[in-house]
Amino acid sequence: MSFQKLGLNRSLVDALAEKGYETPTPIQAQSIPALLDGNDLLGIAQTGTGKTAAFMLPSIQRLVAANNRVKPMRCRMLVLAPTRELASQIAQSATEYGRYSKLRVATVFGGVPINRNRRDTAAGVDILVATPGRLLDLIDQKCLSLADLEILVLDEADQMLDLGFIHSLKKIVAMLPVDRQSLFFSATMPKAIRELAGKFLTDPVEVKV
Ligand code: AMP
Repeated sequence: MSFQKLGLNRSLVDALAEKGYETPTPIQAQSIPALLDGNDLLGIAQTGTGKTAAFMLPSIQRLVAANNRVKPMRCRMLVLAPTRELASQIAQSATEYGRYSKLRVATVFGGVPINRNRRDTAAGVDILVATPGRLLDLIDQKCLSLADLEILVLDEADQMLDLGFIHSLKKIVAMLPVDRQSLFFSATMPKAIRELAGKFLTDPVEVKV
């Protein structure tokens, strides 16, 4: 199996080859075609399985294909992560995988001056990676709007719940356009997480690795 056979275009396959990725991991093989088709996805997978590329690669391809111009203080794709470390890693991956795509990537999380976040998002970003608290601060201060969102990714949902982000998440999701693609990842799927996923997703493809 190759990345090209999964439906990814040349510039992404080239960016992957430069990173030394030749064979998709199981979660990538299962998720990428479904996501390219525009499906919602419920992924049960741990870190280390290649899940970041599984959601980032098809999302980059769809954002490029849709070619919507991002407006100031808006974003087209939002990835929510529980920690600063994970948010930074995801943004780094987005930058590397999208190196030929010209998409703008930014990350916002607490612990850095909010003015820096404001400056980084002022012109609008294609892919924003954020922790929930700081994202809500920016929205409350009218420095960011999610009105144009095309793709939502919730990563490590079980950790988000453990860290007490449930109300923030619900608040954020209530602001999103109904017509969007939503992806939800968790290492475990207890009842509370499955119920939460049910509120975020429409008729999702389910992938477990
Ligand atoms: P993740 O589960 O997204 O944290 O990824 C785990 C690690 O695997 C990261 O260091 C990725 O750079 C790497 N990785 C992801 N997909 C592939 C692949 N298809 N081939 C080789 N390495 C990969």
